[in-house]
Amino acid sequence: NHLKKYFPVKSGLLNRTVGQVKAVDDISISIAPGETFGLVGESGSGKSTVGRTIVRLTDKTDGEIKFKGIDLYSLPEYELRKLRPKMQLIFQDPYSSLNPRIRVGDAIGEAVLNHGLAKPNEVRELVLEVLASCGLSSYHIDRFPHEFSGGQRQRIGIARALVLNPDLIIADEPVSALDVSIQAQIINLFRKLQHTRGLTYLFISHDLSVVEHLCSKIGVMYLGSMVETASRDELFKNPLHPYTKALLSAVPIPIPKLKRERIVLRGDIPSPANPPSGCKFHTRCPFAVEVCKHQVPEFRNVGSEHFVACHLV
Ligand code: SF4
Ligand code: MG
Repeated sequence: NHLKKYFPVKSGLLNRTVGQVKAVDDISISIAPGETFGLVGESGSGKSTVGRTIVRLTDKTDGEIKFKGIDLYSLPEYELRKLRPKMQLIFQDPYSSLNPRIRVGDAIGEAVLNHGLAKPNEVRELVLEVLASCGLSSYHIDRFPHEFSGGQRQRIGIARALVLNPDLIIADEPVSALDVSIQAQIINLFRKLQHTRGLTYLFISHDLSVVEHLCSKIGVMYLGSMVETASRDELFKNPLHPYTKALLSAVPIPIPKLKRERIVLRGDIPSPANPPSGCKFHTRCPFAVEVCKHQVPEFRNVGSEHFVACHLV
């Protein structure tokens, strides 16, 4: 609720604070149990920061984060530690978080022992079981991370999160580094695991065609702000924000009759340290009018839980 994360901008020999980056600037989302919420935007939109503040990898600046009704930021450290296994983060490149000298089975088992979730003699069986549910086997358990392909490494990353028996998985660009054919396999794995384990996902991606296949709800972020949220079906059928339309017009669709109007964005995303006034999107919006430069559009419900922030809607 009203989540904000500001980073100080430092400069000079004395490292003085000269400004701030509003990486996440007052966004609110809710994710129901068993649901998949897709958070979409270009790099620099703040979507990863949302994920990191939820699991407290980085602390929020303001707002409230609740998990199963519990305010995560009011919990004492030891209570938070008990909850941590229930919220797991999966990264784009699990390789960077795997110690190259530690065998995969040990890396996965270590987390279980650290959290006291099993006895040492039970760990191997638990690891084998979770590897199997991720499409890997005992063949993989004693190997080192460098012996695996990108897709297999992501399966290991997923297995390492799953072994803690989480309820919520925050997946930050988990398929972005993979070939398209492998992407589909990993997305199918996410879907299968959701059914068999009743998982809830926050799925972060810059690619709408990836979230389309997995998410029931989608939020689109631009420069730290949410510009549109809706159910997946509503968003794809009736996108209202010009930025969403532009992202969607870049997604290839198989039915020519449904051809969408192609919207090409001018330029790159502006620096979050110095965002445009009024509607932050006005410097790239093909429909911008005078008021857009001065007035911040309100994030409004335009019906059936479809929210959008644009003066023209
Ligand atoms: Fe474009 Fe104006 Fe709408 Fe912003 S408020 S998206 S600049 S039309
Ligand atoms: Mg990111």
